[in-house]
Amino acid sequence: MPQQNHTGISDLLLTIGRQWLLTALGLAGAVLVVCGFFDPPLAHFRFHALLLAVALLFALVDTIRRVRGWQPSRFPQRLEGPLLWTVAVWMLLRLLPQFASHTIVVPAALIAWLVVSTPLSVFLLPLITALAMEAGLTLTGRQDLRTLGLNLAVFSLTVMGLSLFAWSKAYRHRLRKAIARGRHEATSQEYAEDLGLVAERSPLPDPPVPEGEREYLAPGSRPAAELVSASFDLQMDMIRQALRATTVALLWPDLEGKELRLRNIATDRADIAPGPYPLGTGITGALRQTGGELALAPAGRACPGLPYYQGDDKVGGVLALEITTNRTAPMAAEHPPGVLCVDRAATTAWTTGERALLGLAARKLSLELTMGRLLLTMDLDRNTMQQLYLGLRELNGVLGLEACFDATIKTITNLVQADFVAISLVEGKVHRIARAEGPQAEHLAGLTFPVEEGLLGQALKFNRSMPAKAEYQGPAPVFSNSHHLKGFHSLLIVPLRKEEGGAPLGALCVAAKKRAVFTRARQDILELIAGQIAVKIDLAQAHEKINRLATTDGLTELANHRTFQHGFDVMLARATRRGSLLCVILCDIDHFKGINDAFGHPFGDTVLHAVAQSLGRAVRKIDLAARYGGEEFAIILEDAGQEGGWQMAERIRSEVENLALSCHDETVRVTISLGLAAYPSDGSSKDVLIANADQALYRAKRAGRNRVVAWSGAEAPPAAEPTVTVTLADEATLTTPAVSLGRRSP
Ligand code: GH3
Ligand code: MG
Ligand code: MG
Repeated sequence: MPQQNHTGISDLLLTIGRQWLLTALGLAGAVLVVCGFFDPPLAHFRFHALLLAVALLFALVDTIRRVRGWQPSRFPQRLEGPLLWTVAVWMLLRLLPQFASHTIVVPAALIAWLVVSTPLSVFLLPLITALAMEAGLTLTGRQDLRTLGLNLAVFSLTVMGLSLFAWSKAYRHRLRKAIARGRHEATSQEYAEDLGLVAERSPLPDPPVPEGEREYLAPGSRPAAELVSASFDLQMDMIRQALRATTVALLWPDLEGKELRLRNIATDRADIAPGPYPLGTGITGALRQTGGELALAPAGRACPGLPYYQGDDKVGGVLALEITTNRTAPMAAEHPPGVLCVDRAATTAWTTGERALLGLAARKLSLELTMGRLLLTMDLDRNTMQQLYLGLRELNGVLGLEACFDATIKTITNLVQADFVAISLVEGKVHRIARAEGPQAEHLAGLTFPVEEGLLGQALKFNRSMPAKAEYQGPAPVFSNSHHLKGFHSLLIVPLRKEEGGAPLGALCVAAKKRAVFTRARQDILELIAGQIAVKIDLAQAHEKINRLATTDGLTELANHRTFQHGFDVMLARATRRGSLLCVILCDIDHFKGINDAFGHPFGDTVLHAVAQSLGRAVRKIDLAARYGGEEFAIILEDAGQEGGWQMAERIRSEVENLALSCHDETVRVTISLGLAAYPSDGSSKDVLIANADQALYRAKRAGRNRVVAWSGAEAPPAAEPTVTVTLADEATLTTPAVSLGRRSP
C-alpha cells in the first residue's frame, strides 16, 4: 500500500536522521569553526558558548557510556563521541585565541589518543575533520602557513610518541596485568554470585581443598567458585590451542541479567576491554538471531561486534555458542545465557569437527557448573550439620538455667543470623521473657505478657511456628496485643516443646532486619534445635530446683547449715585474700521452748519463719543469712567489722522485737539474743570465729536476753526486762523463768 510505503521511507529517513544526527552536528560545528564563527570579536559570546557546551555535553555522555562499559554497537554511535570532542576542542581554541599557540598540544594529544586507542573506522573521521579544520582555517586566512606547519608537526610527533608508548612492552605488560587483576577480583564474590556458587555465609571455615588444587585459590576466596573458574581457564586455553584461535572468551551474565561480564579468556591479544558489555547487541544479538550458535568464516563485513576488543575487532572467523545458565535469577524472569566465543585470524571455514568440539566444550562447562553447585549444596549441608552440632554441644555443656539461656542465644544467633532473639517461658496464664538480646531487647527481660495474646500467644495456642512465611510486615503484635517489634523484616516464633505435639513450655522468638532470612532450611534447623532447647530448659529448671532444695532450708527459706559452712569458707577466704573485714552473728530465739509449749509446734514453725524473714530482709545481697539449727540463725556480713556488725545485729533485734505475730487472736511477741565476732580482730579461722560468736551469744543470754553482745567485750546496752519474752494479746504477760540455751545453761 502506498500509505505503508510512505511510512516505511519516512521511518527509514527518521532512523538514519536519528543515527547520524550527532555526527552531522559535529561536522556542522567544524564548518562553523572554519567559517570563523568562533573567532573574535565575540559579538555573540553566549550563543557560541552554548554551542560549545552542547558539543561538550554530548561528547561527555558518550565518554561516560564507554567508561561504564555500555559500548555503543552501531557505527554512527561509535563515531559521535570522538568527533564531538575534536570539534569542541577546536571551538574552544578559537574562542580563546590568546592561548591558541601554547595549547596546540591539547588537540594534538586528543587526536593522538584517538589514533592509538580506537580502530581506524572510529578515528579516521575526527582526524580528517581536524586536518580539514586546520586546512580550512589556513585557506580562509584565519591562520598563517607557519602555524599550520607547526600544528601538523606537533600532531605527527604526538601521534608517533603515543603510538610508540602504547605498543611498548611495558605498556602491554601493564595492560595484561590490569586485565588479570580485574579478572581476579571478579572471580571472588561477584563471579561466585553470577555463577550461582554462593551460599549463606557461615561462621565455619570452608572445607579443606586437596593439596594439588590449592594453587588455583586466592587466600580468603571461595573454593567452589574459584575452582570452577580455574577449570574454565584451562578449558579456554585448550579450546584456543585446538582451534588455533586468537581469543576464546567466556562472557557471563551478571546476577540481574542486565549485562555480560568477561569471566574467562585465553588470548594472544593485549587490547582486551574488560567490560561489562551490553546484552542484545553485537555477538549476543547475532546469537539470538541464529538460535544460539554462530559460525562465520570468513567473517568479513558480516562479523558482529566482538565487545572484548578495545581496538580493531575485525577477525577472520568467529564461532560462538550460547551456554544456558540453568538457574533461576532472583530478579530477572528470564536469565540470559552465557556466551562462549572463539575468533581467529584465519578465514578458513569452521569444520564440523571444530564446531562439534566447541559444542562439547560448552556442555562440559555447563556440567562443571552444575557440579560446582552440587558441591556447594553438599558443603552447605555439611556446614549446617556442623553448626547444629556445635550449637548442641554448647547447649549440652551448660548446667544452670542462665547458662542455658546464654548458650541458646549464642547458638541461635550463629545458626540463623538473627538480629534479635528472645526466650519466653510460660508461667500459668502469662509468659515471662526470660532473656532477650538485640535491638529493642533492653527492657524486655523479666516482663510478663498474657499467654494468649500476640503472635507468640498464637504460636503457643496452635503449638506451631508463626508467622507462616517468617516475614514480618508489622504492625502485627508480637508478645502481647500492644507489643510490636520495629525495624525487622523477618520474624519467626517457634514453640519450645520437649516432644512433638507436647505442650510448649515457652517460645523462641527470632527476628532479623533483612528480608527472607529465615528460609525453609533455617526454619527446619530452628525447629529442630528448639526441641533440644526445650529439653535443656526443662532439665536446667529441674537442676535449679534440686539445687535449691539442697542448699536452702525448707521451713525458713534461708540457706541451710551446709550452705552456711561452705559460704563462710568462701567469704573468709575472700576476706583473707583482700585483707577486708568480716562479721559473724549467731542469733537464738529467746525462750522458744516456751512458745512451742504455749502455742504448739506449728505456731513455733510460724515464728521461726517470721524471724527468718526479718533476718533475710535485713541483710544485704552480699551477706549470708542461714538457719544454723533448731531456732538458731547465723549471719555473715561481708566488709563489716565489729561496729558495722553491731549496728546490723541491733537492727535485726529491734525488728524481731517489733514483730507482731498472732495466734488464736492473741498477739505474740518474740525476742532474740545475738552474739557477734569479727574477723580478723576476734579470730582468723572459721571455728574460732563461730566459737567466739557462740560465747558472745551465751553472754547475751546470761545478761538477760533480747540483746547483742560482741565477743571482744563491747558492752551490750542494758536490756529493759530480761525475763519478759512472750507477751499475750490481752496484755497479760506470760512470764517464764529465764530459760537459757540448753547446752549453754549457766
Ligand atoms: P533460750 O534459748 O532462751 O535459752 O530458751 P529456749 O526455750 O529457746 O531453749 P532451747 O534452745 O533449749 O529450746 C530450743 C527449742 O526449740 C527446742 C525445740 O523443741 C525447739 N525447736 C527446735 N527446732 C524446731 C522447729 O523446727 N520447730 C519448732 N516448732 N520448734 C523447734
Ligand atoms: Mg532459744
Ligand atoms: Mg537454741
